[in-house]
Amino acid sequence: IICPGLEKELFESRTRDLKAQFRADPMCRAAIGSRWSEKIDDLNQIIAEADARMYEDKKIFYRTHPASNRYRHHSDELLYLADPGVLQEEIRQNRFVVYLQPKISCPDRRAVGAEALIRYQPRPDALVLPGNFLPLMEETGAVSQIDFFVFQFVCSRLKRWMEQGKAVFPVSVNFSRCSLAQPLFVEQLTEICDSSGISPELLEIEITESLREVEELDIRALIIKIRGAGFSVAIDDFGTEYANLALLSSVEFDVLKLDKSMVGDVAHNPRTRAIVESIAEICGKLGIRMVAEGIETEEQMAALNACGVRLAQGFLFGKPVCAGQFEKTYLQQ
Ligand code: C2E
Ligand code: MG
Ligand code: MG
Repeated sequence: IICPGLEKELFESRTRDLKAQFRADPMCRAAIGSRWSEKIDDLNQIIAEADARMYEDKKIFYRTHPASNRYRHHSDELLYLADPGVLQEEIRQNRFVVYLQPKISCPDRRAVGAEALIRYQPRPDALVLPGNFLPLMEETGAVSQIDFFVFQFVCSRLKRWMEQGKAVFPVSVNFSRCSLAQPLFVEQLTEICDSSGISPELLEIEITESLREVEELDIRALIIKIRGAGFSVAIDDFGTEYANLALLSSVEFDVLKLDKSMVGDVAHNPRTRAIVESIAEICGKLGIRMVAEGIETEEQMAALNACGVRLAQGFLFGKPVCAGQFEKTYLQQ
């Protein structure tokens, strides 16, 4: 359902009412995801986000109703990607495309880095966001094929840019826990990097903080090893799931990425501002670079600036675009 012209509060209260009505009805269930946006630049993106939240809602329902095992949290029509052989062929056919989103430095709004984000293009006219296929691949472990494909792509692009005399900057790549749990993870990174002939300093490994709950993985030791090999480490989605102060005190890392859920709140919630300001201060003291993610408005940027945030990423500065477009827009000769 697309509801144009509704103020945020009204939109949210209607969504809440709708959810409550379904919850109260024992016969008719529905999972609901919604997304409000002030303006519409990219309707598909907004729909995809609402869709992802709908699957989250579904997940919560099935978690609390364990008798049902019918649940799938991904688009059913993409189930074929769970087969590693099929996935490999889709990668070979260039149906997975690496997009890049700039990270900018706040005072001058210059691009100082980028994040690589995967997209799936089953047909020329369709672009599928990772929220629709990564959860499925995480279940099967096939996601590592994607992660390493992206890493390899980024290394060869960096090499090409350098050969073309462009001024390059570090690019970050997301890694799922399946990849991080591989015994030779760091060795594989080093090998790809070496064979591409680029320095590991140009690569940042993004790890999501909820990883700490994965017991079989000694995240602290892994981070030490990754950094020991010369790569930087970023903790992604900081502020989403757990109390994170323990992480700050127990592990040395290079970059903290403040999750967009906090950024969305920062302009209007003084408590969020107080937290962000304190995190920025801690990062300053510990020599960690802090990047705020998901900035969409000038108001948010101004509030973050006042909190001491100096690095930013978000639609306000640039959406993820394909590598060719990224080169034209952000790389200087
Ligand atoms: P992430 O690593 O936290 O990446 C940031 C996400 O926020 C991206 O979504 C990006 O498009 C979106 N974003 C950036 N600026 C804004 C903004 O101003 N507003 C809003 N609403 N969103 C913004 P995307 O590309 O859909 O990726 C979603 C997640 O999928 C990523 O979150 C990351 O966890 C995962 N992912 C993406 N590529 C890969 C990959 O190659 N490997 C793995 N393992 N995970 C990946
Ligand atoms: Mg990330
Ligand atoms: Mg993030």
